[in-house]
Amino acid sequence: MAKKKDKHVYFFGNGKAEGNATMKNLLGGKGANLAEMNLIGVPVPPGFTVTTEVCTVYNAKGQDYTVELIGEEVKKAVEQVEKIMGTKFGDKENPCLLSVRSGARASMPGMMDTVLNLGLNDEAVEGIAARTGNERFAWDSYRRFVQMFGDVVMGMKPASKEEEDPFEVIIHQLKEEKKVEKDNDLTTDDLKELVKRFKAAVKEVTGKDFPTNPWDQLWGSVMAVFDSWMNERAHVYRRLNNIPAEWGTAVNVQAMVFGNMGDNSATGVAFTRDAGTGENIFNGEYLINAQGEDVVAGIRTPQQITLEGAKRWAELQGVSEEERAADFPSLEEAMPIVYQELFKTQKALENHYRDMQDIEFTVQDGKLWMLQTRNGKRTGAAMVKIAMDLMREKKISKREALLRMEPNKLDELLHPVFEKEALEAGFVVAQGLPASPGAATGQVVFHADEAEAWAEKGNKVILCRIETSPEDLAGMHAAQGILTARGGMTSHAAVVARGMGKCCVSGAGGVKINYKERKLEAGGKVFKEGDWISLNGSTGEVYEGQIKTIDPELSGDFGELMNLTDKYAKILVRTNADTPHDSEVARNFGAQGIGLTRTEHMFFEGERIVAMREMILAEDVEGRREALKKLLPMQRSDFEGIFEAMHDLPVTVRLLDPPLHEFVPHDEKGQKEMAEVMGVTPEHIKAKVEELSEFNPMLGHRGCRLGNTYPEISETQARAIIEAALNLKQRGVVAKPEIMIPLTGTLNEMKMQEDIVRSTIAKVFEERNDSIDHMVGTMIEVPRAALTADEIATSAEFFSFGTNDLTQMTFGYSRDDAGKFLKVYLDKGILKVDPFQELDQSGVGQLVKIAVEKGRKTRKNIKIGICGEHGGDPSSVEFCHSLGFDYVSCSPFRVPIARLAAAQATIKEEMAKKATKAAKKSDKKKKKSDKKKKK
Ligand code: PEP
Ligand code: MG
Repeated sequence: MAKKKDKHVYFFGNGKAEGNATMKNLLGGKGANLAEMNLIGVPVPPGFTVTTEVCTVYNAKGQDYTVELIGEEVKKAVEQVEKIMGTKFGDKENPCLLSVRSGARASMPGMMDTVLNLGLNDEAVEGIAARTGNERFAWDSYRRFVQMFGDVVMGMKPASKEEEDPFEVIIHQLKEEKKVEKDNDLTTDDLKELVKRFKAAVKEVTGKDFPTNPWDQLWGSVMAVFDSWMNERAHVYRRLNNIPAEWGTAVNVQAMVFGNMGDNSATGVAFTRDAGTGENIFNGEYLINAQGEDVVAGIRTPQQITLEGAKRWAELQGVSEEERAADFPSLEEAMPIVYQELFKTQKALENHYRDMQDIEFTVQDGKLWMLQTRNGKRTGAAMVKIAMDLMREKKISKREALLRMEPNKLDELLHPVFEKEALEAGFVVAQGLPASPGAATGQVVFHADEAEAWAEKGNKVILCRIETSPEDLAGMHAAQGILTARGGMTSHAAVVARGMGKCCVSGAGGVKINYKERKLEAGGKVFKEGDWISLNGSTGEVYEGQIKTIDPELSGDFGELMNLTDKYAKILVRTNADTPHDSEVARNFGAQGIGLTRTEHMFFEGERIVAMREMILAEDVEGRREALKKLLPMQRSDFEGIFEAMHDLPVTVRLLDPPLHEFVPHDEKGQKEMAEVMGVTPEHIKAKVEELSEFNPMLGHRGCRLGNTYPEISETQARAIIEAALNLKQRGVVAKPEIMIPLTGTLNEMKMQEDIVRSTIAKVFEERNDSIDHMVGTMIEVPRAALTADEIATSAEFFSFGTNDLTQMTFGYSRDDAGKFLKVYLDKGILKVDPFQELDQSGVGQLVKIAVEKGRKTRKNIKIGICGEHGGDPSSVEFCHSLGFDYVSCSPFRVPIARLAAAQATIKEEMAKKATKAAKKSDKKKKKSDKKKKK
């Protein structure tokens, strides 16, 4: 936490800065980059950053303590701003106006609060009017300030989700009274009237007068920005993006520059490359005579920055070239000199940061000012393309390209796309902007909380909004796609959707949304809540009904990236697959074997379940053997299919694991059917089923406990596996079976299973007069097995960590019931992450480590892998790499993610080694020179 003697405020301006780009933790991303932009000669309005540490202080000790702590430093920094700007904070004639913005370590677009035009009051507004000779501008700025401050600091929010913003209601009323349509049609007197009505509304709702003292305004705003770190939407965003609450936000206070000074002023947002596709195309949106939030708020239709972009926009919107050029000119056409400077600046920023930048700028009376630059949020596809392009452009190395990628985002590339024919046959009801690519089909819902509720029930929904706000975050996350009637490519919906990799069509002007009646009209059709629509986020088209999807084709940059991962990854990536189809999918994604085939899934299909039930319900071992005889050929052919799909690669087959009651019929009808098959009474079956029921099945009669009480089950499975492998051998296909015993807890349990399996295999070899290489090993998923791994390794040739069960048993959280309290635990911060998704390295990880060390003590080169869900989680892959695992195994669609994580783990390890070596060297050097000095 910040202490009194620490520095809490960092000044920047006029090409100088106390901070720089490396100080993101302290100054937040925005603050660090504002400092850096000053240092590299980019025009930035002067200002200062209050550090993230102060946010933590404020949260712990409140406003008075914080003001006391940083008051003097802030005062000095304001004086420096005044000096550069030639203005005075609080002055009547020549007031210094400020903006106050948030800025955390990781960018959280739109999640926290901003106050602009701070420092205005009834006197200062006259001063500004007189100095600029632009009374309308002065009053427009003032009404915006009252509106923003009233909302952010004084809490004037809509009363319910169906209500509009209270200030917008007042604007709307006045426009009706004055019979004008656009905000810009309001006269200066109208703006004065607005300020009056705004203030009266503030007084009425909050009971407080609007503050006139600029210092009160400043402190109120700074604290409100700190408060916004803790607001609900920021909280949701942090949870979705794994951002710790302890980080806090910095606050950036800057001299105002005005994009609303007239037609020679503008404000905009731009990306140095396409954030949706990754193409190297400068793009963005702007508005003439507008301020800050207008562009992203989606209230006015923003214009394109480049001519090329404007032409494409017009085409999508069905606007003629004449109309476009007259009403929606690009910045390139409207302000060609400013555009050239902006173009040069964005190139310089991208080259400096060596990554795609998301920039904000304002043009005040023909002069360009940069307000922000940050690494732009992007889709998974753009992430891959941009990194691979930058690598080919030699701006970043291969290692950097790999480290730039967020493994989990690759998932987006693997999502289904619309089937071409189905798309051609589909009926387009509206055309919007292709704000975030992808294919989405779902039921129409209109509110974010409802999107969440519907999705929780398993429905696929499309969240349809006039425009989205940061409050809608969780609903956007739960939806398949997002459709907005208003807003451009840089609107909140578009930016957030791209960051989430979620399909989004924005600014679909032909879509009329009525929240009250819960209906949407488009293309002459009415869609009520629950009706189906489809979105093509790559073209901006909105379709009626459901459109069929297919798996995407992966090649080009994705293929190149995957090849690159193989150059670095040391740990192999296998897959968990139970069918030939899944095995093939995984193999196409680059799986280097199967780490887990769960045999139980095979028993549910068709006739098998009947034979399986016969086996379970049999009275004695003879009856069980009879039923197992029926299952043997079915199992054998299953294994043949999988071995064939995975030819030449190792395949780990696990013997039966779940408790038997999972297979028996629990309903009357099923029990009756079973009774007929087995020629016994339904009562008999019912009694047997009851006999099998357990209070705690996950800790009950399952895993190797089954195989040890009913050895004939293990015998049959071992036979099926080895016979399948030998059959393939005869056909010239190489199978590499690894037989895995589940839920081992003691050496004796393992040994008994090993004996059963090995003696069966020996029998098969003798019968066939043939043999095949194979292994027999175990899962390590019971804590006792981990602690006695040295003993177990005397029998097991390999270990595969079943971290699902190991997590369950180490935490004592039931895998099946933990959902009920895990969410609360995560919300309350009791757990930082869900341990069933991300391996708990400090707890469960200790058991893994012990088991690895002990296993290797007994069997030096024991093969080690992981097949719990964690095998596809990047941080867990890194952990397994650090322990020298041979492989991780995960579901087919996570294979590319694990491959990338595996490569990153090697590169990070190399970097850490290099850094340690360098530190040691410099330490040695220092010691030497100290010694010399002493002499
Ligand atoms: C495990 O427990 O991690 C595992 C892979 O086995 P299952 O999920 O089938 O219990
Ligand atoms: Mg298990």
